[in-house]
Amino acid sequence: MPEQKAAWLEWQCRLVGWHRFNTFYTHYLKIEDNRANFLACMTPCEYGCPRLIVENSPSDIKAVCPQNQIDSIQLKFRDILIYALRWEALHQALCVSLNINYSADRRKEHEHIWHLGDYSGTEVYITYRTAPAVFADTISSLYLSPQKPFIIMVPTVKNITPEIQQFLDKNKFRLLSLEDELILQTDGSFKPPVRGISECMKSFLSTNGTNWH
Ligand SMILES: [Zn+2]
Repeated sequence: MPEQKAAWLEWQCRLVGWHRFNTFYTHYLKIEDNRANFLACMTPCEYGCPRLIVENSPSDIKAVCPQNQIDSIQLKFRDILIYALRWEALHQALCVSLNINYSADRRKEHEHIWHLGDYSGTEVYITYRTAPAVFADTISSLYLSPQKPFIIMVPTVKNITPEIQQFLDKNKFRLLSLEDELILQTDGSFKPPVRGISECMKSFLSTNGTNWH
């Protein structure tokens, strides 16, 4: 969820099957004041258009294909409520589980990066945008900053291209995949990595460049 903010139905569609979704929602999502006007289409027509939300009444809400290509879908009121990630709570919990000195939830000058704090003197950042073009920008912006080396956390390494991997590897920047290293527990805390925090924070890039999904 690169935007970290979406209608309830979209969170559910993306995270369905994750047995900790309820825990995640309770601890790390908050409801916003506004409602969605559009939803990502679950059954895209040939135009791939988002579904337009039509609210006739609180009990009669439909997601309509604006091109009128496919049948509309009946929605529940909650489906269109917008939920956003509670960054501060999530970042604090991540820092606790990884022994990072949390230094306030500070967004870097680059809009997609948060500075979390430091781990044994190494700066730790997090970003949720891993689409290749955006992530390349993020990395160059960190590369140009005076604090180096650094550790950057990402939700998943699935989108990281070989070129970016090589660049990180060459510069001994560490990439930490939340998906691979941390497990959300029922109380909302994260279980530290099985192989130990220091092992995890060490460059698994520089020691094993093939350790990729
Ligand atoms: Zn459509």
